[in-house]
Amino acid sequence: MTQTVEPDVEAAERPTDSPQARVDAWLSGFEESLRQRDLDRAVGMFAPTCFWRDLVAFSWNITTVEHRDGVRDLLAHTLEGTDPSGFTTSEPPEEAGGVTTAWITFETAVGRGRGLLRLTEEGAWTLLTTLYELTGHEEPAGAGRPMGAEHGAQRGRLSWRQRREAEDAAMGETTQPYVLVVGGGQGGIALGARLRQLGVPSVVVDDHPRPGDQWRGRYNSLCLHDPVWYDHLPYLKFPDNWPVFAPKDKIADWLESYTKVMEVPWWGGTRATHAAYDEDAGEWEVTLEREGRTLTLRPKHLVLATGMSGKPNLPNIPGMDVFAGEQHHSSRHPGPEAYAGKRVVVIGSNNSAFDICGALWEHDADVTMVQRSSTHIVKSATLMDIGLGDLYSERAVAAGVTTEKADLIFASLPYRIMHTFQIPLYDQMRERDRDFYDRMAAAGFELDWGEDGSGLFMKYLRRGSGYYIDVGAADLVADGKVKLARGEVDHLTESSVVLDDGTELPADLVVYATGYGSMNGWAADLISQEVADKVGKVWGLGSDTAKDPGPWEGEQRNMWKPTQQEALWFHGGNLHQSRHYSLYLALQLKARQVGIPTPVYRLAPVHHLS
Ligand SMILES: Cc1cc2nc3c(=O)[nH]c(=O)nc-3n(C[C@H](O)[C@H](O)[C@H](O)COP(=O)(O)OP(=O)(O)OC[C@H]3O[C@@H](n4cnc5c(N)ncnc54)[C@H](O)[C@@H]3O)c2cc1C
Repeated sequence: MTQTVEPDVEAAERPTDSPQARVDAWLSGFEESLRQRDLDRAVGMFAPTCFWRDLVAFSWNITTVEHRDGVRDLLAHTLEGTDPSGFTTSEPPEEAGGVTTAWITFETAVGRGRGLLRLTEEGAWTLLTTLYELTGHEEPAGAGRPMGAEHGAQRGRLSWRQRREAEDAAMGETTQPYVLVVGGGQGGIALGARLRQLGVPSVVVDDHPRPGDQWRGRYNSLCLHDPVWYDHLPYLKFPDNWPVFAPKDKIADWLESYTKVMEVPWWGGTRATHAAYDEDAGEWEVTLEREGRTLTLRPKHLVLATGMSGKPNLPNIPGMDVFAGEQHHSSRHPGPEAYAGKRVVVIGSNNSAFDICGALWEHDADVTMVQRSSTHIVKSATLMDIGLGDLYSERAVAAGVTTEKADLIFASLPYRIMHTFQIPLYDQMRERDRDFYDRMAAAGFELDWGEDGSGLFMKYLRRGSGYYIDVGAADLVADGKVKLARGEVDHLTESSVVLDDGTELPADLVVYATGYGSMNGWAADLISQEVADKVGKVWGLGSDTAKDPGPWEGEQRNMWKPTQQEALWFHGGNLHQSRHYSLYLALQLKARQVGIPTPVYRLAPVHHLS
């Protein structure tokens, strides 16, 4: 053994059994085995029970593989093209409960990635790999930001604004967008901002006149149910004095300002009426009605960001045509002001139903909620503390968990086992608010905690419905101030709602808080039923729970990733998902624009039409 004269200080600080040393050894072994294309060795470095979630870096897809067979399959199909290298930690790993957690970075043949590795003594238990930029196509930021000013003398120079205006005027006339995003809510806006930074010629169209109108049009009492730390848009965070739960008009104004400041090419008053894919030309032909004019765009890619809470489910109940009062879906509810002293029946018992019932009660309406099936309720303060507090809160920020880090931590928990992390949290919530739940049950309200007790977030991912984040209206039901009726609606008469047990509820107004349909319904409207069926159901994991039929899919169906219809994409979700997943969707589009090969690993098969 050779004696070193100069002690290796770094090595001395990294005892061989330290978390850092363990992770370093794993990363270098992994990298070497990948470089040598030694799949047996690479696969053997994973624990027998393991999950590797990849966001675009290896798979050009959003996918999770399970266990050593899955890891082998992913590598066998992707390793050659990905050619990964440079695996290293970006901060000291931490260890708790026999699991070493490490933030990692790496490079691929075409880009740079980051991820999160969890090691146990059996090997890698979970691995998240994500692509965050394409080499040679980095966003112009930081040291690479645009100059703005053009120093020197130049005749006929155009100002920044003039260039923007010329660009906008040419779009659709002499130039074509590479990507057309239909739907300019928070989803379309966030994606539009990313595409612009990446230099992908795009247009975001929306039938509303102004960005944020989606929120402006909703009932007055609405505030975001999610807290500010969870809601940031890409690039531009809410200021420190932003309310925890933003009122809807404030969010609307923010979206409008953001669209302007980020120079999102956003066309208001523009409705996409038809789209068809021309396979030979490899482009879409999309017909738009823009401010009274019909025009055609020919983008290479079409993104539907038309909203998962945008296609109202209006039930078809006998007697709706004879009911003489007012009736509307919750999405059309104008707010409570006009209904003081009126008898209102709200059909449904989830978020919108509670929000609407609470506001109506505050305005002296006589309100009855009709509960048709059980609802999961969790108190907002409890959810913020126990459910989100470690990741998205002032407490998390103080502990160094930025929104970006929180997004990756969240993304690193494989959906297959996510419920096992959630169940104990919801057990705690149930315990903390036991009195409240007892009072709700005593009032006859049917509660649930998700089929496996995993609570709100899993319900959101699986079916996007079936819950209420209680901001106060539940007490009105518990106290009998908002009356509760249970059962299916049998029919309406001229002046009442009649339930299947014969209960008759007199009504001047009926609100159908009956939720929203699958987003591939938008594809049917805009493209064709055939294409809607080809791509199948959008959203859900295949958990084989209510409204999320199996088989297990492992990722959210059709969201932010290639679909069975070439060049058709879906984007949306809550503000967190819009922020985080718009990056991966934008990178997939950018790669295609600049001709980087994007072989898709395991394009998801279709099991359900809607
Ligand atoms: C009552 C209520 C409360 C909510 N609270 C929260 C919350 O607290 N936090 C949260 O993150 N989410 C919340 N949501 C969910 C919220 O709807 C979504 O997060 C958000 O609106 C989705 O944004 P989006 O951009 O995907 O879709 P939307 O905001 O629905 O935008 C889609 C846009 O597409 C347009 N469009 C559709 N078809 C066409 C067409 N053919 N041509 C042109 N334009 C078209 C629509 O007009 C619409 O403007 C709530 C939803 C409701 C209903």
